[in-house]
Amino acid sequence: MSKDILSTRADFPILKQTINGLPLVYLDNAATTHKPQSVIDAISRYYSTMNANIHRGNHTLAVQATQAYEDVRKKVATFINAPSSSQVVFTRGTTESINLVAYSFGQAFVKPGDEIIVSQLEHHSNYVPWLLMCQRQGAVFRVLPFDENSELDLQALEKLLNKKTRLVAVNHVSNTLGTVNPVEEIIRIAHAAKVPVLVDGAQAIQHLAHDVQALDADFYAFSGHKMYAPMGVGVLYGKKEWLEQLPPFQSGGEMIDEVTPDSVTFNVLPYKFEAGTPNVADVIGLGAAIDYLNQFNSAELQSYEDELLEYGLGLLRAIPGLTVYGNPRQRSAILPFNIEGIQHYDLGTLLDTKGIAVRTGQHCTQPIMDALHIAGTVRASLAIYNSRDDLDALAKGIDRVVRLIRRQT
Ligand code: PMP
Repeated sequence: MSKDILSTRADFPILKQTINGLPLVYLDNAATTHKPQSVIDAISRYYSTMNANIHRGNHTLAVQATQAYEDVRKKVATFINAPSSSQVVFTRGTTESINLVAYSFGQAFVKPGDEIIVSQLEHHSNYVPWLLMCQRQGAVFRVLPFDENSELDLQALEKLLNKKTRLVAVNHVSNTLGTVNPVEEIIRIAHAAKVPVLVDGAQAIQHLAHDVQALDADFYAFSGHKMYAPMGVGVLYGKKEWLEQLPPFQSGGEMIDEVTPDSVTFNVLPYKFEAGTPNVADVIGLGAAIDYLNQFNSAELQSYEDELLEYGLGLLRAIPGLTVYGNPRQRSAILPFNIEGIQHYDLGTLLDTKGIAVRTGQHCTQPIMDALHIAGTVRASLAIYNSRDDLDALAKGIDRVVRLIRRQT
């Protein structure tokens, strides 16, 4: 039987804290999620019982640490249904995963005059690496726009794709608007034009069920810290045929096969992309986070979070003067809004005085802000441990803050 979702709050020690004398209402989960005690314990256990460098030593601790690290690679492969754990590359996070592909793919496959398509809904992490790569390679950076419902225009995608297109980069879920992009459809359209697709899964991995093979994604990137795992660890999944063809991103220890003064050959996958001492402790923490998530039925988890989102959207839409941004057919875990006449930053600061943590600003998505002609938004974002109580507290907090500001102005 799967674990009861309503019992999860107790698993996260940080949520027992008070902020400004009030119980913490944490609604900044798209920025980072908190860690259950089991993840914190796994990291601590690694340092207190195992700490050793991996793949190199043959003493007991080195063998145990290597085994534990490689076990997590298998666990990740099963979690996302990768055909082989050799297609799971550990990185620092989504940003590094995307930089790896932008750098290596650009170097191997992008010539002057070629084109890359990036959506207008992207986080800067899936925008700037492609922009810089296009500048380096003399390629053309094309932007796939979103419409008034904050959905990507798939007809525009078909028109943008042509013989010069080398890759499409798109997120699975927008961190700013919560749009769940039809990545399966996008991949089908791109593949019909023989173009590979990189999917940024940073906001999807913790909310949606995953199957990179069913999706047919060429690359899929995500961060541990947004899925209850530690900061500083992430994953790049890639199809074997692509990973084998890409040159290394970083070089140094462990990624080589043979080195002479005249030549260097590279290690097999995935080690070709893991130069230097990896973040072993946090990879082990990622394994513990996957164990934590595996206790739940993923369909139940998604419907719990979707119901919570609808509840929150209903509460927000009832607040006079409040605009919720975007109206996608499918939205995940993100509530983006502003209140007429109130700066998003002021609203966030005052909500914090009530113990309510939300994010304010551009959310690393200036292209979205420019398209919406706004400076920023307030963003509440959900995780497994949130409940209707948190959203009631948010709505009540907004009401109080708005009254306070209106009294003063
Ligand atoms: N893409 C999306 C959609 C994100 O939300 C984020 C984090 N806010 C990133 C990429 C970057 O992730 P990280 O900072 O963990 O590398």
